[in-house]
Order: sequence, then structure tokens, then C-alpha cells
Amino acid sequence: MAKYDYDLFVIGAGSGGVRAGRIAAGYGARVAIAEEYRVGGTCVIRGCVPKKLLVYASRFADDFEDARGFGWTVGETRFDWGTLIAAKDKELSRLEAAYRTTLGKAGVELLEERAIVVGPNAVQLTRSGRTLTADKILIATGGSPSLGPEIPGREHLITSNEAFELKRLPKSIIVAGGGYIAMEFAGIFSHLGVETTIVYRGDKVLRGFDEDLRNRITAAYAKQGIRFVLGHVFTRIEKASAGLVGHLSNGTTLQADAIMFAIGRTPNTAGLGLDKVGVELGWNGHVVVNAYSKSSVDSIFAVGDVTDRAALTPVAIREAHAFADTEFGGKPRMIEHTLIPTAVFATPEIASIGLPEHLARERCTKLDVYKADFRPMKATLSGRDERMFMKLLVDGESGKVVGCHVLGEDAAEIIQMAAVALRLGATKADFDATMALHPTAAEEFVTMREKWIMPTEAAG
Ligand code: FAD
Ligand code: NDP
Repeated sequence: MAKYDYDLFVIGAGSGGVRAGRIAAGYGARVAIAEEYRVGGTCVIRGCVPKKLLVYASRFADDFEDARGFGWTVGETRFDWGTLIAAKDKELSRLEAAYRTTLGKAGVELLEERAIVVGPNAVQLTRSGRTLTADKILIATGGSPSLGPEIPGREHLITSNEAFELKRLPKSIIVAGGGYIAMEFAGIFSHLGVETTIVYRGDKVLRGFDEDLRNRITAAYAKQGIRFVLGHVFTRIEKASAGLVGHLSNGTTLQADAIMFAIGRTPNTAGLGLDKVGVELGWNGHVVVNAYSKSSVDSIFAVGDVTDRAALTPVAIREAHAFADTEFGGKPRMIEHTLIPTAVFATPEIASIGLPEHLARERCTKLDVYKADFRPMKATLSGRDERMFMKLLVDGESGKVVGCHVLGEDAAEIIQMAAVALRLGATKADFDATMALHPTAAEEFVTMREKWIMPTEAAG
């Protein structure tokens, strides 16, 4: 008789958990997976997928206006939030069902309740009270929206979780935070006609991104009418006769129908029992793992957002796949957490691969910068006052391209393919030797001839 009930017990059926369970089962492992909410996890149920659907919905506002310049007569347009949310929910149910089918076909047993760790090889299902044993346990519990320090009136706030479920579209909203989620949701709401304010504690949103992208997206948002309140945080939230009043650290107040916090996410390890079995946890509760996703306890592993490496779906999936290959497929493999392409699905969209300029300057003795700032072809007839921006950072000594950054339509699509070139170690000469595909915006990357001269260098 087998020593344990399962070879692998996965906690969390999100991007990472489902991939690990499926691949391990494919190698012949006996696998169970526990899910306390909905199969598919954050990305499918309340992250990437519904977010992108809302982004598409919001961009029609510009499309209707732009169409006129191309000869279309656009009649009265009206947006109905309820219709969008119902359609989105239907699609999520379809996807969730597809995930269930995938798990079923792979022979993974799905247990639809919360699981906690009660020993190095034991988990407990909290509803049924059953204790199950496994040779290996994988923590793939993801993260949850953080609400920051305790402030009075916190119960009135919403996070991205609730934003996807709002019964009605608010007339006005304040989004706190200056990261991915704040920028994406501010763009969605603003394009859907909601009066939108961003409250961010720093002096410029999207810390860590290339300065040119940060400056340009801030300017584009301001031009669209999004208001920025910088250098402050909320200290108290009150319910008003209509909507909410938010008190800020500078003593002023802001009023809106809704206040959404998008100030980062916390790894889901609270109450999971990991500390009791000796699993080392990091500063924000994340599971500390080695390059093979193994925790400080030999039989316990972790992948995805709960490890706080790079909180992105493709990263969780790759970590999970490598874990299953290593532990069940006899193919030890680790993931390189470098050259990860990333996008903020704001409107305009931004996307990057490689180093932002401030880091490239630190790492390269000589850095060549190429920039293109132009009016996209579509904007000529639409009349939209819009610019597209592209930037290439080149190590002046080796000629290698060390960073690519885009702001504008299809930025994410362009950067996904540029990522292949950077991964292969492409040089500026390789970019130059690549035939352009005309007429596209992406062709700018293979036709950049003039180095950008910093104004101070030019003056000197
Ligand atoms: P999750 O997908 O979060 O899965 C964890 C699962 O574990 C959940 O289903 C949870 O219910 C379950 N669980 C937790 N605790 C337990 C327990 N004790 N017992 C049983 N089940 C449990 N990434 C991108 O790459 N691109 C994007 O465009 C993008 N957009 C995003 C937009 C938003 C609004 C958010 C919030 C995130 C977005 N992300 C995006 C990030 C992406 O969703 C995550 O990186 C990804 O889902 C992480 O996968 P995971 O497997 O680590 O965890
Ligand atoms: P981010 O880490 O992107 O941004 C958090 C923001 O909140 C930052 O501006 C941060 O400021 C600010 N902040 C942090 N703590 C506080 C606080 N106590 N009070 C006020 N402001 C605070 O987190 P998000 O929540 O936007 O998203 C979580 C993660 O999910 C992302 O990091 C990303 O990995 C993933 N994601 C990816 C998306 C994509 O790929 N398109 C889309 C959405 C999410 P500061 O910069 O000063 O620290």
C-alpha cells in the first residue's frame, strides 16, 4: 500500500496550481488539488481575463469617435455596465468549466474547499475536517488585495475584487495606488465616463518603469481628464449622504461615489499553518523558496504569487511546470526570472522588456539610446491628439539591446515579440538588419538610425 494518500497535494487551483497538478499527473503522479473559491484562480476569475475584457469595453469610447474621421456616421452610443458584467461572467463560467475539464481529463482529483497544512506531509480540509497525506505539498495559494495600514472606515473601500462585481457603474471614483491595477482600472473607468481621480503616495506613478513611459502616461491620463493627487495617502474614509468622503494625509478631503484601493497584494499564507510546520516566511508572509521552488521544509514547495517573485501569470505557470518536471518528470529545471516582458493595459498601453533607462545607465559603461515619438497613422484621419513612443536601449560596448519600451496601441503585442529577440541576445545591428514590415508602428524598432542625445550632452 502507498505510504501517502497522494504523491502531490496542491493547495490552490489558480494559474500555478492547475499547471503543476496537470503536468505532475501526466507523469503518473496521484494528484489532488484543493480550491476554496473558483477554479482558475485570480487570473481567470478576477485578474487578467476580466480586466482585459473591461479594457476592450472601455476602448470602444475612442473607437466610436475615431470612426467619424474614416467616413463613418456613428449614431447615438450608450454603454450599459450590467450587460458588460453579465457577458463577462458568462465567459468566466465557460473558462472555469474548461479548467475543470482539463483537471478531470488529467486525472487530478478536485476538492472544492479550503485546505491548510497540518504537517510536512499532511493537509486538512477545513469544511469536511478530513486529513489527507501526500509525499509532496505544493502551496499555490496566490495573493489577495492589500488594504494597507488599518484606517477608520476601511470597510467602505472596494478593491479590484469588488470592482469586477459592481452592480452599477459609479459616476465618480478615486483609485488609490500608482501601480499596475490602479493605472489599468483608472483607464477603464475614465474611458467608461466615470470621473476618475488617482491618489498616489509618491511623486510619479508606475515606479520601476522607464521614466519616459511614466512621464508620457501621466501626461496622457491628465489630458484625458484623470486627476492626480500625488504625495498623499488616505487616513480615514466616511460615508456621506451621497457616496464617500476620503480624508487625506494633507488634511484635505475628496468625495466620490466609490474609493478603490489598489496598493499591492499580500501573499495568501495567513492561517495556512505553514509557520507551525517550520516553513520560512518572508517579510510580507510570502513563502521563501529556492530556485527549484522548494521551501525550507523538504516536502513543501510553493509557486506563483505566494512566493512574491514576479506576480504575473506566465511566471506562475512556468514555475509550476518546472516544479512538476523536476519533482515528477525526472527533468530538474529552474526558471530564470530575468527578461520578463510586462505590460500595463492602460489606455494608452505601455509595455517593456529588459532594463529601464535608469538601470541600464547603472549597468552599462556606455549606453546608446534610440527614441521614436510620432503620431500613429490612425491618428491622422481620426484627428485624435495622440503620440506613440518607442525606445531602444543599447549597450554601447557590446551592441546588445538591453531594453525595449513602447507606449501606444498594441504595445504589449509588440513587446511580446521583441522579447524573443532580447532573449536571443540580439544586437542593435541585428535589429537594423531585420527587414521592416510596413506600414506598422513596430517597424520603428528596425529603422532607428539616430542616437538620442541627452539635452545636457547636446549643449556641451
Ligand atoms: P492565483 O491565480 O491567485 O490562484 C490561487 C488560488 O488559490 C485561488 O483560486 C485561491 O482561491 C486559492 N486558495 C488560496 N488559499 C487557499 C486555501 N487555503 N485552500 C484552497 N484554495 C486556496 N498577470 C499577468 O500576467 N497579466 C495581467 O494582465 C494580469 N492582470 C491582473 C489583474 C488583476 C486585477 C490582478 C489582481 C492580477 C493580475 N495579474 C496579471 C496577476 C495574476 O493574476 C497572478 O500573477 C496569477 O493569477 C498568479 O497565479 P497563482 O497560481 O500564483 O495564484
Ligand atoms: P503594484 O505593486 O503594481 O502597485 C502598488 C501600488 O500601491 C504602488 O504604486 C505602491 O506605491 C502603492 N502602495 C503600496 N503600499 C501602499 C500603502 N500602504 N499606501 C499607499 N500606497 C501604497 O500592485 P497592484 O496592486 O497594482 O498589483 C499587484 C501585482 O499584480 C502587480 O505588481 C503585478 O505583478 C500584478 N498585476 C499585473 C498586471 C499586468 O501584468 N498587466 C495587472 C495587474 C496586476 P510605491 O510605488 O510607492 O511602492
